[in-house]
Amino acid sequence: MPTDDDLYNTLTDLDRQSYKAYKQIQGRYSFPGFTLLIDYVQGDPFASPSRLRVQVPQVSQQGKAIAGFPPDLYRNSIRTIALCDYLTREFERVANNLRGKRGSGKSGLIAIASPGQQVLERTSVLVSKEQVEARFVVGLPAQGRSILGRQAADLLCDDMIDLVEQALFYRNLDGKAILRQVETVEDAHYLRQQLDQRDLVAFIPNGAILPRDSGVSDKPLKKDVVPFQSPESLEVTLERPNSGAITGMGIPKGITLIVGGGYHGKSTLLQAIALGIYNHIPSDGREALVTNATAVKIRAEDGRRIAGVNISPFINHLPQGRSTTQFSSDNASGSTSQAASIIEALELGTQVLLVDEDTSATNFMIRDRRMQALIAKEREPITPFIDKIRQLYHDYGVSTILVMGGSGDYFDVADTVIGLFDYQPQDLTIEAQAIAQQYQTDRAAEGGQSFGVLTPRIPVAKKLDASDSERRRDRDRGERGGDRYRGRSNRGDRDRNDREGDQGRPDRKRDDRGPKLKARDVDALQFGKETIDLSAVEQLMDLGQVRGIGSAIAYLQDRHLNGKDSLTEIISAVIRDVDDNSLDVLTSSPSGELVRFRAFELAAALNRLRSLDIQG
Ligand code: ADP
Ligand code: MG
Repeated sequence: MPTDDDLYNTLTDLDRQSYKAYKQIQGRYSFPGFTLLIDYVQGDPFASPSRLRVQVPQVSQQGKAIAGFPPDLYRNSIRTIALCDYLTREFERVANNLRGKRGSGKSGLIAIASPGQQVLERTSVLVSKEQVEARFVVGLPAQGRSILGRQAADLLCDDMIDLVEQALFYRNLDGKAILRQVETVEDAHYLRQQLDQRDLVAFIPNGAILPRDSGVSDKPLKKDVVPFQSPESLEVTLERPNSGAITGMGIPKGITLIVGGGYHGKSTLLQAIALGIYNHIPSDGREALVTNATAVKIRAEDGRRIAGVNISPFINHLPQGRSTTQFSSDNASGSTSQAASIIEALELGTQVLLVDEDTSATNFMIRDRRMQALIAKEREPITPFIDKIRQLYHDYGVSTILVMGGSGDYFDVADTVIGLFDYQPQDLTIEAQAIAQQYQTDRAAEGGQSFGVLTPRIPVAKKLDASDSERRRDRDRGERGGDRYRGRSNRGDRDRNDREGDQGRPDRKRDDRGPKLKARDVDALQFGKETIDLSAVEQLMDLGQVRGIGSAIAYLQDRHLNGKDSLTEIISAVIRDVDDNSLDVLTSSPSGELVRFRAFELAAALNRLRSLDIQG
């Protein structure tokens, strides 16, 4: 195998040559203690940057520590995820320092996936007992369209050695901080595991910091924060393997209302619960706040696409006799979108729905006595959520946590009522029940005895990628290979990259068969010609999750979309494939950019894909 010295010499020889000549450095190089793999070399300075990996053995052949991570830090899968996440953050930090040293611009950039507050399974760093692998991108240095060979040599040889030693050698890292992250994440995992047997759906520890820095930042609020303190009647104590017992508020299964005056912290509490499906970094404030892993935040989303969903539990006899047992729409209303989102989450087996009045359709949530008198049941297609919420729990065991400051009608159906006063929770269950007795609503219940059936949906077996026919034409014209999109569409891509301030990460899936994929931000996934709007899918937190979902859709249309299996079966099969292998199963070549996503969010993307058709 050529060495770092060989690479250094090659790069200095390439100085001033045309940028394309960089292609020849693709390959593996033996560095002191580790291997550098140059998997893909960009064709011009403005294209997606080059993709590299380093592989660092834990110990040398002589038994000397190299990466040298103590096996305790990765003795189970949850610890491994926490460790890999930590190393991704360190790698990013060290790479940014190096970059500061070497000036701005894409040229000379070293970038790895950029994690937020959640600790997630990622493909950016992989740790095993044999080795540590990091996957990242590099913008190979250029001046105009010619190679800056000496800079490239400094970057790929000297800087690379510093980077690997500082970010991936255990002896140069803060062992206490790593252990803290690993133990914090493992603790949260165990807390979440205990919820079900304690008949809880969420746990919010005393002292937790729920509010965030701003509407656009997920970091904890620092100024004037009121830490969370559970009312005594809802207090529970759970065990943690590393940090011992912890006390906080347990939200029981069943129907829970969060009430209170405006601006008293209701939505903040629900949002924290929604993200309790994930583990968080230490010092986040929510690192011991956990929620049933199947919880789905539901909201109204008028304009979304709906494909063949049986929304009849909520919506019936629409104008013009439109079917609601197989309801489709390219432009759903607030209420139909919210109904469909609930049914879709139920199809995938959610056990907890999270609903906020702020983002709900009023006519989906309530229909009071007076409106019942004015508009007869026969003329109102909607059965409001209030009339199905108990059936949902009774028939399917699905709990609901609902923020509802605007209607006391829900007191009749609630098991637990939590009031927020100046951000502090109180247990108002008994009071609310007394009030419900005292002031009868005189509503007629409209929901019937049972919730209604869930109907499996079987997608039509066809390419979901809208640009498929165009790609076939390209193929006929003889444009082959991984660079197919280069040239024709490159400029457009570059413009878009620049506009979005994209770091120029490799964003095109280079699988020959796959559609063009691009995760633009957590709110949008470009799939072929279509852009899937994910802005209402609130529990998607990481760009890498969107990339993972994009790859999963391309993967499942090749493997699992057979015209026989239901959407739920298809999605479960993909999740099983990822569980049995790794996220790498979704891509044809190793990508450092994928992050673990849930079945619910994959389904949410598919359900919004306008080219998905359901048999019927
Ligand atoms: P509501 O839904 O009850 O109207 P929000 O949850 O939207 O209220 O909160 C209103 C504001 O109060 C937000 O700016 C939020 O960041 C802030 N906030 C929420 N909880 C706390 C807290 N525990 N300490 C300090 N500020 C908080
Ligand atoms: Mg609110």
